[in-house]
This record gives sequence, structure tokens and C-alpha cells, in this order.
Amino acid sequence: MRMKKSLFTKIAIIVLSFILAAAFVGCGKVDTMKRVSKNKVVIMGTNAEFPPFEYRNDKGEVDGFDAAMAKEIAKELGVELKIEDMAFDSLLNALASGKIDFVAAGMSVTEERLENADFSEAYYTASQKIIVKKDNDTIKGKADLEGKKIGVQEGTTGDLEASKINNVQVSRFKKGIDAVMDLKNGKIDAVVIDASPAEVFVSKNDDLKILEEDLTEEEYAIAVRKGDKELLDVINKVIKNLKDSGKYDELVTQYIGQ
Ligand code: GLN
Repeated sequence: MRMKKSLFTKIAIIVLSFILAAAFVGCGKVDTMKRVSKNKVVIMGTNAEFPPFEYRNDKGEVDGFDAAMAKEIAKELGVELKIEDMAFDSLLNALASGKIDFVAAGMSVTEERLENADFSEAYYTASQKIIVKKDNDTIKGKADLEGKKIGVQEGTTGDLEASKINNVQVSRFKKGIDAVMDLKNGKIDAVVIDASPAEVFVSKNDDLKILEEDLTEEEYAIAVRKGDKELLDVINKVIKNLKDSGKYDELVTQYIGQ
């Protein structure tokens, strides 16, 4: 009798632990749409150091092409938009943990990122560019970057691309503009960064130039938590509506200017 009882107790403990473990796992899962409609707010995560897609305007608010798109998403959801500004390389963790609901940060779709998030339809085609000092006539393209000191924004596709080059020393910055400052000060030889912010930074610094060559071709898209299909459908609908209505082209003219 005693033996039987303790066996029963053991089984009961095992079963209970499974139930408890399942309950804890369940707690980690965020029901995004439920939370959005309950709190009447959707939270965009970004890194407001990436003009013209996201930057702080004169009022100190996060502005830019992505912020404008995010406003349309909030409007479609019928809720308020809240923006969390953080380091670019912490965005996908913040998304997975439920701190934010989607990422709009000029984020390029990559194989690795697709393992940790779902992405919307692409909304912009971009490329990586090289910035050097205007008087630099030795670095004419990617082939000349071997053995050089290159500045990048940490965790970006520019970081990935620069790190592939032979014998390079890659300096990783939290903000692209800090890499540009080190280039001006002669601490590094080149900066590898997305074309659009490169244009903005170089237009404000007449001692710098952008090289012709495109190092990559990438697509910007909005990231949501894996499996957040309902939110993703809304986001894709907004992107489609913006394109169909001509509003997308207006935003490109307003923010990117081409
Ligand atoms: N497009 C680049 C990437 O996805 C850089 C984005 C950014 O710095 N905001 O890595």
C-alpha cells in the first residue's frame, strides 16, 4: 500500500509540474491584438538615428518615413501610436519579449532575422554604401576596403557586410552619425551604411563623399512577433493602401525626396 501511494504521489507531482511549466510558457506569449484593443495603443519600436526613416524633429518627436507609416497603422487599428526609441540591435529582442508590437526601423529582411520575427511586404529597396573623406583617392570601392578601418552601426546589415571583408577592423557604433564623426576625425577610413542615411549625413558634411558602388540590395519591411498574423495582415493592408492611393509616393517625396 505504501509503495503504491508514493508512486501515485510521484506521478501526481510529475503531472502537476507539467501543468505548471505549461502555464509559465503560456504566460510568455503575448496576445498582441487583445492587448492593443484593451490598452488602445500599439507600440512601434525604432532607433531614431536613421534619417530620413526615423529621426527626432525640431520638437524632439520621432519623425520620418517609418513614423509616418506607423501612424497609418495605428489609424487603421483605431488606436494611439506609442514609439519606443532604443538601440537598433535590441529591437528584435524587445519585440520577442513583448515590449513593443512591431519594428519600423529601416530594418532589412535577412535570413537570420526571419528566424526570430515575421516581416511585412517590403516597402523600400535599399543598398549599403561606402562613405569616405572627399579627398580620399585610394578607396574607390569595396575592393579597396581590405585591411582598412571601417565604421558601422552595430548589428546592422552594414555591420554584416563590412565584417565579411578581408583583414578589416570594424568599429561598431550605436549611432551611424558617430561612425561618420570618427571618419571626419580620421580615426577610421570609411563608413558602410544604408544609402538614405548616407545621403543625409554627407549632405551636412561637405568634407565627405559617397562612393558609386552598391554593396548590397536589401528590402526594408516591418517586423512583428512570430505568428502575429492578424497584426501583419493589418500592416500589409496599410502598405498596400498607401501604395494604391498615391500616399506612399507623397511620403517618399516628403521624406526621402526623390
Ligand atoms: N537596413 C539596415 C539593417 O537592417 C540598417 C537599419 C538601421 O540602422 N536602422 O540592418
